[in-house]
Amino acid sequence: MIHFNLPPLTGNEEKYVLESMKNTKISGDGSFSKRCHQWFEEHLPCKKALLTTSCTHALEMAAILIDIKEGDEVIMPSFTFVSTANAFVLRGAKVVFVDIRADTMNIDETKIESAITPKTKAIVAVHYAGVGCEMDTIMEIALKHNLFVIEDAAQGMMSKYKNRTLGTIGHIGAYSFHETKNYTSGGEGGLLIINDESFIHRAEIVREKGTNRSQFFRGITDKYTWVDVGSSYLLNDFSASFLFAQLETADKINTNRLNSWKQYYELLSPLASKGLIELPTVPTECIHNAHMFYLKVKDLDTRTKLLEQFKKEEIGAVFHYVPLHSSPAGIAFGEFRGDDIYTTKESERLIRLPMYYGLSTAQIQEVVKVLNRFYGY
Ligand SMILES: *Cc1c(COP(=O)(O)O)cnc(C)c1O
Repeated sequence: MIHFNLPPLTGNEEKYVLESMKNTKISGDGSFSKRCHQWFEEHLPCKKALLTTSCTHALEMAAILIDIKEGDEVIMPSFTFVSTANAFVLRGAKVVFVDIRADTMNIDETKIESAITPKTKAIVAVHYAGVGCEMDTIMEIALKHNLFVIEDAAQGMMSKYKNRTLGTIGHIGAYSFHETKNYTSGGEGGLLIINDESFIHRAEIVREKGTNRSQFFRGITDKYTWVDVGSSYLLNDFSASFLFAQLETADKINTNRLNSWKQYYELLSPLASKGLIELPTVPTECIHNAHMFYLKVKDLDTRTKLLEQFKKEEIGAVFHYVPLHSSPAGIAFGEFRGDDIYTTKESERLIRLPMYYGLSTAQIQEVVKVLNRFYGY
């Protein structure tokens, strides 16, 4: 049996979690959270990094920080996770879906401008599979129309676009440390990345239930009181300690995943050159993090049969998002603007193969063998 995903463990997680248990402060912003924040602020780099309970919550914070209100429109791809949309819908926005590019499954930057109206407030760039969106074009459009750019970089930690780390290019970025992502804080967790200084002050308040607690602890204010809307978005320090062990070994995890990705790519190239499958595309300006290895088959019918075969062989291969615009909530809260040329068609033929830190060459060969047999080789 080969799992689709296994959460990474690189060695020091246990030690740090035990250490954090013995600390006198185990709630948010304890000693391990501080070490994580410092790591991110140095390595990304960014103006401010704040650990959150999830990427979902980091996106919700972003929607509050850019003041999303009833009636605003937010442009995003339909091929994404529900949290990308929910964060803005919760503030009363309407989500406007535009088509994706077939090569990267990312938002098609050439379709954004025609979806903009006077109500548009932001563009959300989702970096699918940790491969960067065409950020220069997206930032130019945003500047021209006075819009915010939020990067949903849930899958994008350690990836780059033109030598800039994903999540640090837009006004605000978000990472996920869910167990299915490349780095985890022990199951659930996220990061809010602030690249525009003007959001820092309010971000600290929103994250601390709408209070000025952070400033109070730093001695900036002498009273601790309710000053704005907010919620409880802080990650507990146990989770931060688990994550810190992974940050210290971030390159090791990244290299290991990239090696697996390259092995899949090479071993599957013969099937691709015969035109039986399509392999993922990474544009030359992007450095990816091997968040996933996906391939595309001919159509939905072929995918269903192939997934059945993988299931029989006890191999965890899965499909991915059902496009949001065709979901009940997507219909209620959103609208697809422009033509759906690729979103539905490409999503129906995509399959994700097992991918995690520590996946062995033998396991990769076994997965490839199933594919070869399926296609008669
Ligand atoms: C995983 C994921 C999320 C949600 O992350 P959580 O940390 O589980 O809230 C949001 N957007 C994308 C694109 C994701 O892949």
